[in-house]
Amino acid sequence: MTDIPTPWRGLVVSAGFHPREQFSVSQIEKAFGSANEPDRGCLRAWALRYLWGLKQPDGMTYEQALALPETTEDEKRLRAGTIAKTLGKVIHRILEAYYKGGNIDIDSPAGKRIFPGLHLAPHPSQCEQVDIEKQGNPRTGPESDRISWVLFKDLVPTIAGRRYLIDWKSTNGRVDNKKNAELGKAKGSWTYQKTEADLQIDYQPNLYLYDEYMLHGYVLPARFVYFLTDAARKPEARAVDLPDQPLENVMAVVYKLDSLARELRAISRMYKSEKFYVLSDVPANILNCGAYGGCPYRSKTGGPCTAEDTQIIPMGRLLTGATRSNVGALHAAASPGFVFQT
Ligand code: SF4
Repeated sequence: MTDIPTPWRGLVVSAGFHPREQFSVSQIEKAFGSANEPDRGCLRAWALRYLWGLKQPDGMTYEQALALPETTEDEKRLRAGTIAKTLGKVIHRILEAYYKGGNIDIDSPAGKRIFPGLHLAPHPSQCEQVDIEKQGNPRTGPESDRISWVLFKDLVPTIAGRRYLIDWKSTNGRVDNKKNAELGKAKGSWTYQKTEADLQIDYQPNLYLYDEYMLHGYVLPARFVYFLTDAARKPEARAVDLPDQPLENVMAVVYKLDSLARELRAISRMYKSEKFYVLSDVPANILNCGAYGGCPYRSKTGGPCTAEDTQIIPMGRLLTGATRSNVGALHAAASPGFVFQT
């Protein structure tokens, strides 16, 4: 799909983009935060991504991320976040090749990051079958009004007749012992690596386990393998397991996800039926602007969202008139036939 440049630096919209009623854990976490950090979401960021289609280009490579500007502190943070994200993607691609029997270059920057973690996942020769990056489309809620989801499972190996769920994660391995103490994590832990207790309520593993349960009738043991991305540190990997998640815990998380998706669907339907046009109708969470390397929509880094600058939080005017017409023109170009009013 072709990416169309936008007036906002580095952001694009895919040709033919239109809002869809299919949900993912990423959408839920963008809007509402994760189960463990519920204040780390922003409905407006979700709307910009999933109603307007504004995003960072998919194809940005690790090398392009390295070339991003870093003049200001905000640009530096955005660059660091983008580097980590792109390195995460490269790590996924290499692991995919590894399980498909391809050659992997363990001397490449990403290869060096992966090598210390290979023993934390099964060797390909141990697996009777491997599902790699397999798409799942579970549905939740009552039969008469289902919510449909899309997800991709990194790796589901079958070993001795039993399936396992494995997910690859990348982390900068930040150690914040003050925060570790607040979170009940051991001193020296990677602060943003989830614990087993975190995974018990986390959206991603539980939705994936639900999908597997609906397909195969049992709850799989799950493992998250974390690879350290901080190039200044020696490569390292750590694993966290969710070995025996009760089905009722899975279902409790799935019910929550279902209700959050229904909120997003209601906003999306209002938007599509033209009950609101301006994204200032969508609440902004300015506490989230600087999180995870900085939100790509911040005006400080060339994005369209000025909520943080104006300090107008829930119903403020987000966009200037000029910017609104840019958005209208952009969508007319991106989605011929899709009526977009600002
Ligand atoms: S810049 Fe801040 S308020 Fe605006 S979309 Fe991003 S996180 Fe939300």
